[in-house]
Amino acid sequence: MELYQGKGVCGGIAIGRIQVYKKSRPQICRVHVTDTDAELLRYQNARQAAAGQLEALRQKALADTGEEGAAILEAYQLLLADPDYNEAVETIIRSESANAEYAVSAAQNHFLRMFEAMDDDYMKARAADMQDISERLIALLSGSGPAALLPGEPVILLAEDLSPSETAQLDPAHILSFVTVCGSPASHTAILSGMLGIPALVQTPAPLDGALDGMTAIVDGAAGTLCVDPDEATLARMKARLRDEQQQRRQLLALRGQENITRDGRKILLYANIGNIRELPAVLQNDADGIGLFRSEFIYLERTQPPTEEEQFRIYRQAVEAMAGKRVVIRTLDIGADKQCSFLKMPPEANPALGCRAIRLCLARPGLFKTQLRALLRASALGPVAILYPMISGLAELRQIRRMVSEVQAALDVQGIAYGNPEQGIMIETPAAALISDLLAREVDFFSIGTNDLTQYTLAVDRQSADLDAYYDAHHPAVLRMISMVVDNAHRAGIRAGICGELAADSTLAGTFLAMGVDELSVSPGNILPLRKSIRETDTRRYRTEEYLVNQGYPVI
Ligand code: PEP
Ligand code: MG
Repeated sequence: MELYQGKGVCGGIAIGRIQVYKKSRPQICRVHVTDTDAELLRYQNARQAAAGQLEALRQKALADTGEEGAAILEAYQLLLADPDYNEAVETIIRSESANAEYAVSAAQNHFLRMFEAMDDDYMKARAADMQDISERLIALLSGSGPAALLPGEPVILLAEDLSPSETAQLDPAHILSFVTVCGSPASHTAILSGMLGIPALVQTPAPLDGALDGMTAIVDGAAGTLCVDPDEATLARMKARLRDEQQQRRQLLALRGQENITRDGRKILLYANIGNIRELPAVLQNDADGIGLFRSEFIYLERTQPPTEEEQFRIYRQAVEAMAGKRVVIRTLDIGADKQCSFLKMPPEANPALGCRAIRLCLARPGLFKTQLRALLRASALGPVAILYPMISGLAELRQIRRMVSEVQAALDVQGIAYGNPEQGIMIETPAAALISDLLAREVDFFSIGTNDLTQYTLAVDRQSADLDAYYDAHHPAVLRMISMVVDNAHRAGIRAGICGELAADSTLAGTFLAMGVDELSVSPGNILPLRKSIRETDTRRYRTEEYLVNQGYPVI
């Protein structure tokens, strides 16, 4: 038995045989050609064929994983059409009278060196895309064809790395798990495996020389381990865990379509938190009542430039369309503190968590904010979009926001562009907002309580600091009292109050939140059904007795 420790990028257990995937890399020789025009034509034919392959893959990715998966292939298509790359290849063919295979390989090396020298993770990742395109062209030119990657029986695929196009070619039904020696958790391949819901590991130092081919192995996505040739006891234990996992999943799936209702008949809505539209399939599979928090900043964090209005609109539209009439709460850009975007060139701050973050940044940069507002307002014409503003601490910010929204609406009117009338709510995540929630409630359509920041700011404990873990107590009565107070103030003003911080998923508090009258809990998609289960087993009458609350250290107000 051999254990390899990697990094899990998608949880779950897989048990099966390993197939080591080796890329078939043709030997590239430099050959002197006399007819460079014929060689250029051969290269252009290969480009055309590659374009055809990529389009077929894009269509497949679209069907398997939706637009986000297809977008990865679109990036390849753009790279294949890149004039600089093509000019480099053609110049080498012409000026050196070289064969096309050599020219592609030389141009690839030139661009790879350039990308890898850049101090930017995004551009470094583009190097892998460039390699994929070049290998595809060389395979077509040399007639070696795409690498065989079509296993007959479901296998654990072990590879040095997998490019997104290779991943997209696989039939998910034939793959139990991906394990790669290289790759990063944020790589496109990891993202695709997450979308397919397949346990996956990256950075796993397993040998690729074929010694593991056909061997039985266990992948534990949560622990990040690959166990090869497990002994009987381990195999039996992991098989039992896999059975348990499958049974629990089946039992939870039976809760789809069921209400979130307690034994004593109290109901609550369970929404999903997402950071990306790649998570939409999980939102639907887990039967969310809607999206309660779309952290839009992740759209910015993935890019090297701010997303355009059109790009954002397309993303929001996909969320609205996927949710088919269910509410989609999209939070405006919450950049700052631990979430930094290099292209925003924010000056360093001594205390970034207390600095120019979230709404403060948006109000300071109207161009950035208005682009997002335009996209959100346009998307709201297509379905029930609600806009959520983060890090509000006072009424003045609300007034500034309202002014900017009016300006954006006026501009859309002039241009004759349709927009809806979205609900507009605020995050309650500063103690200031909680304490004046009675005043704020009169000005907005809903509250969403961000317990992650509310805990940090209330207890004066940096949420990022592992050393202060013991002080970061989201069950602290000060936090729970604030939640209760915010909910009461919301209801007095006739608006709804939900919780979207991590505390919402804490099933030990579900009864307390219900007793407080919280209208909705928004949690990561995988937490929805387990939370539904707890709610259906809860009787909130227990939670209303003062004695119970006091014993549990919960607030009595
Ligand atoms: C929160 O603060 O609770 C919250 C939901 O926002 P974030 O975790 O993105 O800061
Ligand atoms: Mg927050």
